[in-house]
Amino acid sequence: MSGRQMVPPVFAANWKLNHGPSDARAFLQRFLALVPRQHDRTLLLFPSALAVGAVVEALRDRPDIQVGVQNVHTEAQGAFTGENSVQQARDVGARVVLVGHSERRQLFGETDADTARKVALVVQARLVPLLCVGETLAEREGGLVEAVVQRQLEAGVSLLDDAQAAGLLVAYEPVWAIGTGRTATPEDAGDVHSLLRRLLSDRLGERVASGIPLLYGGSVNRGNVQALLAAPNVNGVLVGGASLDPDGWASIVRS
Ligand code: PEP
Repeated sequence: MSGRQMVPPVFAANWKLNHGPSDARAFLQRFLALVPRQHDRTLLLFPSALAVGAVVEALRDRPDIQVGVQNVHTEAQGAFTGENSVQQARDVGARVVLVGHSERRQLFGETDADTARKVALVVQARLVPLLCVGETLAEREGGLVEAVVQRQLEAGVSLLDDAQAAGLLVAYEPVWAIGTGRTATPEDAGDVHSLLRRLLSDRLGERVASGIPLLYGGSVNRGNVQALLAAPNVNGVLVGGASLDPDGWASIVRS
C-alpha cells in the first residue's frame, strides 16, 4: 500500500528473573556462535538488571543486538531502595526499556498512570520504550479485549508528543498466554495488532503508524513463531521461556 513503511522483524528475549551475569555470558558465547550478525532483523535482549552490564560487554562487537532493561522506576532519582532509574539504565548500556509488562501490572500493581510516567521518562532519557499491553482471560471472556488494549495503549503514550510517540515499540501480550503454553491464534493476534495499528494511525497518521513495530508475546516457540509472524500487522515477537536456551532462541531468531 502506498506510503507504508517496511518494518524489519523484531525478535526480543525477556529473560525475567533468569540468567545472572555468569549464565548470561555462557548463553551469549553459544548464541553468538550460532547466529552471525543480522542485517534484516532487529534482535533485543532484556536480561535481569544485574546482568545488563555483562551482556553489554559480551555484545560489544555485535551492534545488531540491542540490550534493554525489564523495568525502570517512575522517578528519575531519590530514596527508592531497590529501584533502577532510566539514567542508570542508559549508563549501563541499555537502549530499550520494557514498560507495562503484565507481570509488572499483575504482580507489582503497576497502573496505567505508572506506565505513562515511565514511558515519558524513558523517552526523555533518549531510550526506546517497548510498551506491553494485553488483556486477562476474564477480560477476554467478558468481551473487553479492545477496550483494555485501547486503554493501555492510549495511557502509555498519553504524556508523549507525536514525534516522541513515533519512536515507540508496542507488544501485544495477552496475559492468559504468558508462560502458560497457550498461544493466541494467528487470527486473534492479527485482529488485535490491526486494532493497535488503527489506533496508532488515528493519532499519528498511517505513514508514521506503519513504521511502529508491533510485537506479539505469549508462549511463542519455534513451532508457532512463523505462523504468528505471518499474521497481519505482526512485526516481531517478545519471548520469555523459549528465549532462555541459546540453541532454541537461535532457531527462533533465524525464523
Ligand atoms: C513474556 O515474558 O513477555 C512472555 C511472552 O513470556 P513467555 O514467552 O514465556 O510466554
